[in-house]
Amino acid sequence: MALRIIIGLVLTAVAAGIAGRRLWWLVRIGRTGQPAPERIEALRQHPGQQGETQVTEVIGQRKLLQWSVPGLAHAFTFWGFIVLLLTIIEAYGSLFSRHFAIVLIGTWAWVGFIEDLFAVLVLAGIVTFAVIRLTTDPKRAGRRSRFAGSHTGAAWLVLLGIFLVIATLLLYRGAQINSGQFPYPHGAFASQIVGHWLHPLGAANAGIATTFILLQLAVILAFGVFVTYSKHLHIAVAPINVLFSRRPNGLGPLPPMRSNGKVLDFEEADPDSDVFGIGKIEDLSWKGMLDLATCTECGRCQSQCPAWATGKPLSPKMIILELRDHAFAKAPYLLAASEDARAALPDAARAEAERPIVGDADARGVIHPDELWSCTNCGACVEECPVDIEHIDHITGMRRYQVLVESAFPTEAATMLKNLENKGDPWGMGESRRADWMTDLDFEVPVVAGKIGDDVEYLFWVGCAGALEDRARKTTRAIAQLLHAAGVSFAVLGPAETCTGDPARRMGNEFVFSMLAQQNIETLTEAGVRKIVASCPHCFNTIAREYPQLGGNYEVIHHTQLLARLLADGKIKPVTPIEEKVTYHDPCFLGRHNRVFTPPREIMEQVPGVHAQEMHRCKERGFCCGAGGARMWMEERIGKRINTERIDEALGTDPDTISTGCPFCLVMLGDAVAAKKGAGEAKESLEVVDVAQLLVRSVQPAGTGPGPAGDGAGATGRP
Ligand code: SF4
Ligand code: SF4
Repeated sequence: MALRIIIGLVLTAVAAGIAGRRLWWLVRIGRTGQPAPERIEALRQHPGQQGETQVTEVIGQRKLLQWSVPGLAHAFTFWGFIVLLLTIIEAYGSLFSRHFAIVLIGTWAWVGFIEDLFAVLVLAGIVTFAVIRLTTDPKRAGRRSRFAGSHTGAAWLVLLGIFLVIATLLLYRGAQINSGQFPYPHGAFASQIVGHWLHPLGAANAGIATTFILLQLAVILAFGVFVTYSKHLHIAVAPINVLFSRRPNGLGPLPPMRSNGKVLDFEEADPDSDVFGIGKIEDLSWKGMLDLATCTECGRCQSQCPAWATGKPLSPKMIILELRDHAFAKAPYLLAASEDARAALPDAARAEAERPIVGDADARGVIHPDELWSCTNCGACVEECPVDIEHIDHITGMRRYQVLVESAFPTEAATMLKNLENKGDPWGMGESRRADWMTDLDFEVPVVAGKIGDDVEYLFWVGCAGALEDRARKTTRAIAQLLHAAGVSFAVLGPAETCTGDPARRMGNEFVFSMLAQQNIETLTEAGVRKIVASCPHCFNTIAREYPQLGGNYEVIHHTQLLARLLADGKIKPVTPIEEKVTYHDPCFLGRHNRVFTPPREIMEQVPGVHAQEMHRCKERGFCCGAGGARMWMEERIGKRINTERIDEALGTDPDTISTGCPFCLVMLGDAVAAKKGAGEAKESLEVVDVAQLLVRSVQPAGTGPGPAGDGAGATGRP
């Protein structure tokens, strides 16, 4: 008895020492990151919201269960380990007393049943994981495997470890039954089966029980140590990462630039002491560092990334893993007590410290520029990540440093930035062209001069594309016609409107963004604007969710939301049937980033004759058109074009029309359809339209033709 107590306690002390040392090392690395007081503040202000996510995401496994088979397998394993904490208490108790039972509940049959039930479910879970890993082995499936790039060897070790935990558990419990030491008279069905197998061994069962109690503790302790050295650290840190994640999720607004925990003021910023984005690993906040430690390498993000799916080097998972590996390799430098200590480090450690965070192979960069600039900010990775890692924040942080400090970004995007600074729109067409779209309307659209009128309900935020891009202008005119027909009073800013700054911000040029945003907020405030309807999801997202960071607070609605409401209220009446099969494409910044999935579909439902059909990747799982993240203004030189991939999927539904709710999607998908038509792969009649254009055609009496055409004098597509 004394021997098993000594062995058990010595094993525990050794394991606790090794794991504790490793955890302290990880904490010290995290503390080299930037402060993130806003995360603490968010938790202080919304404890209920953060608590709810602990219940739904951590305990309820909400995001994991969206992938039913692996989700259920993970949920069984997770819940199993919570339940099996009871068996760990029992194993430790058995070290001291052969007849140990947990106080009060330790002999209840249903407790024994639940313990055994979850032991079996955990076994079922790991068998499922093993089958998934075998069938999606990256060695065979290549890039198509979500595990491509993950540490698959460690994953197999963990599966083996979990199997040994359950196997030793059932063996010692079975032997306990035969030696009269088992606390549960009934209920522990699996233990009883194992006990039945071991029964012929007679008196040896007492020794078998002792052996497997010690082995069970040894396996659990070894597993506990291994966890701190592997991706399975997420078992410990995922709940903390979820607790400090942005709510309602890491989508929608980008966080403002922070330096030393404070929002950066460009007028007062000091280039020598302030942090401008992420230029080195310690520029990440501690929350960013926590993201790196939390990644489970599950590859869900990678499997949904449009850049990865089209053969580009970007994988959101690999971004996190590359940063994590670099942080660990740079740790001796980060944790060195002094400059002398740093100078005394081995060459390899100092070389790691000198690696630029972004750079090509020659520069030994941690992240290749092609990875960094392939991101469309579509948010699919953030949406999928079961542990709430905020990939877009990391990518934006690195872009900010590249643009603001290094001036290193795709050259073709420089024209867009110059146009924004000089002309206030990405095409450089200037304010004088912003009212051109309304010239041939048969009613007058008021342009705000000074204060917006008391009788005007909405400011219609037209957006640069809506005002200047020839195809998007058709949508703008359709929206104006529908609002006019419904009797909604609205006005526009006309020449006083400038770009919201979204493309600059998504590229990383926070300086140009804040300049444009402040100018717009000033204009809107002077005009006394309170309610805005925006036709562009990027404008919608920026004004509704990013301008509040700069003091601009408005009630913002997307045109599909307003039109759906007007239809529901009977203020718009579609009459002319449109007998077409229509496939709707979810714009990322309308759908995933802002959860507007239903209104565009409601509009389509109301149009008589329309047969709506969904693409496989829709709603939360919608696939990007390729324009976001300022990608609209960059060449797409690597892999298949994202818009072509999307149109290939749309063509699979054999549509007559592809509809959307975003001018950028309209342009990107329109370009892909034109290319398909040119190659004879799509029917000539196939069109890409905004749902507003679809609706306006139905509202007009039959025979009056499609909505008003563009005048052909605007910009087309990319500059
Ligand atoms: S935001 Fe979209 S494109 Fe960017 S890494 Fe995530 S999934 Fe890929
Ligand atoms: S970032 Fe999230 S989704 Fe991607 S591999 Fe890591 S845990 Fe999985």
